Amino acid sequence: MSTPTPRKPSIDSVTTIRDDGSRFFLHPADVRGFFTKHRRWTGLLWIAIYLSLPWITIGGHPAVFLDIAARRFHLFGLVLAFQDVWLLFFGITGLGFALFFITSLLGRVWCGWACPQTVFWDHVYRRIERWIEGDAIKRRRLDAAPWNREKVVKRVGKQIAFVIASAVISYLFLAYYVSIPELWDMMGHAPGEHWGAFLFVFLFTAANYFNFAWFREQLCIVICPYGRLQSALTDDNMMVIGYDEKRGEPRGKVGVVNAGACIECNRCVQVCPTGIDIRQGLQLECIGCAACVDACDEIMTKVKRPTGLLRYDSLNGLEGGKTRPSGSGRVRSCIPSYWSLE
Ligand code: SF4
Ligand code: SF4
Repeated sequence: MSTPTPRKPSIDSVTTIRDDGSRFFLHPADVRGFFTKHRRWTGLLWIAIYLSLPWITIGGHPAVFLDIAARRFHLFGLVLAFQDVWLLFFGITGLGFALFFITSLLGRVWCGWACPQTVFWDHVYRRIERWIEGDAIKRRRLDAAPWNREKVVKRVGKQIAFVIASAVISYLFLAYYVSIPELWDMMGHAPGEHWGAFLFVFLFTAANYFNFAWFREQLCIVICPYGRLQSALTDDNMMVIGYDEKRGEPRGKVGVVNAGACIECNRCVQVCPTGIDIRQGLQLECIGCAACVDACDEIMTKVKRPTGLLRYDSLNGLEGGKTRPSGSGRVRSCIPSYWSLE
């Protein structure tokens, strides 16, 4: 059976929505490389942190425990009563400012490296999908195949695995609201005896399942306001993932006279989890995962050209200019020359 061709990204439309408004499911290709390897370890670390915070005790209480029943919030040793809730204003605005500050220096590093959506999607659900249905080519073939025994077994098996993963994550997140001894106690009783907790787990499982089994990258593209704020937080010195147009254009196969470094292999597009072509410029769909950087570096190494055609740099840097020695410039001077062309 022939493999269906992926949709061609356009700067004027969303790759995952067809012209008739229906959803186009992406199957990003696997990629290996420096950033992928480091993102994997960082992702596993974040999962461990997200899931273990209620289990770690500080001052005799869980590190993070939102004890709604007793109207007390335990945050890293700090105990807040319900009447202290006004402090949350400072906490939330402080977090917001910190996020904006980090964005103005390092771009969407949060999205690509630490956001729970990306972390659980990449390191839990996509792994399950790959394990059951195979690589991107096999998944695309399965999409296009008629409903035969193999397709039913794989699709049903994947959905069951997704429901189990969603339920396990929901149970572990319940520990943010219910103390661990209480959680153990609840698990030994019928759901009817703890309707509130049961409803929380049920709804959270359903939301997780919907999000990771179907909605996926749409959450980043359509719902999350952070990507949309990017244009307001961006300046030409902020670190982004971008394409060195000066070096890459005009595109052409290896051996073509006067061709630029980009050999138009489309590997950067095939690995992109939001289906964009970063060579068309900075886009709100770019979650800064650096998969395209690894993919292009692999190709450049194969064709014996310098890596870094796609790279972390400022827009000024990509234009061939200097990154201002303030803001992102200071950060850039701290990162290895791996990212720079020189
Ligand atoms: S363009 Fe590159 S960095 Fe941005 S989402 Fe796609 S693969 Fe990730
Ligand atoms: S992976 Fe690199 S060489 Fe291939 S199309 Fe993308 S930018 Fe061009």
